[in-house]
Amino acid sequence: AVPPVLRVADREDIRGWWPVAGRESDKYTRGVVGVATGSSTYSGAAVLSVAGASAGPAGMVRYAGSAADYVRQRYPSVIVTESVERAGRVQAWVCGSGLGTDERAAGELRTVLAAPVPVCLDADALSLLADGRMQDLLRERSAPTVVTPHDREFTRLAGFPPGGDRVASALGLANQLNVTVLLKGDRTVVASPDREVWVNPTGTAALASGGTGDVLSGLLAALLAGGLSGVRAAVAAAYAHGMAGRAAAEGGPVTSTDVAAALRSSVAAVLA
Ligand code: AMP
Ligand code: MG
Repeated sequence: AVPPVLRVADREDIRGWWPVAGRESDKYTRGVVGVATGSSTYSGAAVLSVAGASAGPAGMVRYAGSAADYVRQRYPSVIVTESVERAGRVQAWVCGSGLGTDERAAGELRTVLAAPVPVCLDADALSLLADGRMQDLLRERSAPTVVTPHDREFTRLAGFPPGGDRVASALGLANQLNVTVLLKGDRTVVASPDREVWVNPTGTAALASGGTGDVLSGLLAALLAGGLSGVRAAVAAAYAHGMAGRAAAEGGPVTSTDVAAALRSSVAAVLA
């Protein structure tokens, strides 16, 4: 096979891709992003992914899950329901962070995978996907799917560790599952099933902190809802998320709440 061209994302790429509201836009045409994350145990994950989704270009955020009350109190702008089935129309879903891996969680994931819209899968959704029958549902999808594993999630999902050649590993998993892979790390790699590969230059070790990945997958789904391809949504989300990590780190030790809080202004700075 022809070796893939490895591209490093830069600000001009992101500025060129990021959906911008115009005179004709309304909340629906800007995209509705569905967030199927969190649980009564992990309600924080729901809030972090909603924060990520809210910093993107979508016109509306819908939350579906058992942290609905918790989300409603913190985000009056978000429309909440208890389940994916009852969420109504969305243009893209993010599913997985803090969802758990019980039967209810598996059912929510199946409903998300059956939706004919782009999907971003993270965290517990990736654990559930270690099951071969769930992977079959993934291969049957026609809309784009993006997975956002860290190294341990990658290993469970792929059946092999990312190892030294992270580009080859990400490409391998992309091909295996017919999904776009965002392999997280110091230099996050994005690889698509048609062998497009990008490296994100904005990462910072300040992001190595619990919950920052939930913010990333929320933002990524909002970009999918805004109409970006799986690859562009993944590259743009990683870029802006890295900038938010750097901005948050200027104020001292970073938590994922700080990254979420810095995300809006970091997006604005990238697009300025
Ligand atoms: P998660 O493990 O799901 O919470 O996601 C962690 C986030 O932090 C991802 O966006 C990673 O790319 C980022 N991250 C973790 N460790 C590092 C590191 N050493 N350098 C840069 N980014 C990192
Ligand atoms: Mg995570």
